[in-house]
Amino acid sequence: MKVIETVDAFRDARCRAAEPLGLVPTMGYLHEGHLALVRRARADNRTVAASIFVNPTQFAPTEDLATYPRDMEGDLEKLEREGVDLVFAPDSDAVYPAGFDTYVDVGDVANRLEGQHRPGHFRGVATVVCKLLTIVRPDRAYFGQKDAQQCLVIRKLNADLNLGAEIVVVPTVRDPDGLALSSRNAYLKPEERAAALTLSRSLHLAREMYDDGVRDTEEIRSRMQALIESEPGARLDYVSIADAQTLDEFDAIDRPALVSLAVHVGSVRLIDNALLPSRLGAG
Ligand code: AMP
Repeated sequence: MKVIETVDAFRDARCRAAEPLGLVPTMGYLHEGHLALVRRARADNRTVAASIFVNPTQFAPTEDLATYPRDMEGDLEKLEREGVDLVFAPDSDAVYPAGFDTYVDVGDVANRLEGQHRPGHFRGVATVVCKLLTIVRPDRAYFGQKDAQQCLVIRKLNADLNLGAEIVVVPTVRDPDGLALSSRNAYLKPEERAAALTLSRSLHLAREMYDDGVRDTEEIRSRMQALIESEPGARLDYVSIADAQTLDEFDAIDRPALVSLAVHVGSVRLIDNALLPSRLGAG
């Protein structure tokens, strides 16, 4: 496994790599969710590249960039074990050299949900993913359903700017009790981790109601909201039930829907989502 820190050296290595090449972009502090993407990429491609880069432009000044968990040594061991060929691990100056001044703004789909609650977040995500897809030129790029809106933003970016990668979305990996794996779970104290289960429980409730024939989004949303509000350790940011492609909110579920939510638990903001009807393994 080669670990490469500069854009030029990565381009060089990429030229000599066997095709097809699959890319797994990450911000590091890797867990089984990230490794599910790596395994899928390993199964699909002759060369697997992963990137580890905590992207400063997707964090607001008030967010957790400085304290975002990092473990480069542990991450490299995990990637090596999964048979990754190339790791791109640039520092911030390699990606954003002095004078950098070009950003990518995806339209409508980036302006809802997380886009509303974290202004500028998807501008940072789209900019860095655009750069990664341009530097790495993967045949396929792998992203997690855990960040469902991010997947929609990246599909749009890839299509609109003709970046030419096949975007593969991998189902959310969860702990046995339902909590979606996230690098930010590392911040949770034991009692907060228990409160964090309210996210997956409320999604489970939505799925049960849907399976019982409920289609009224307000009815489902208010039951989810009540469940989250009954957990004293959790503070709801939003619950949304929206068209799974456009993220337009609707009154009755008459087409595939994305149920998504963001909840503060202690100092941590967690997101999770589910598709209705559930796509096999996509929850
Ligand atoms: P991050 O390091 O948080 O930027 O995540 C890198 C990639 O891993 C993104 O495509 C995420 O959606 C994906 N990912 C994060 N958590 C999970 C999870 N629990 N299951 C599947 N994919 C995940």
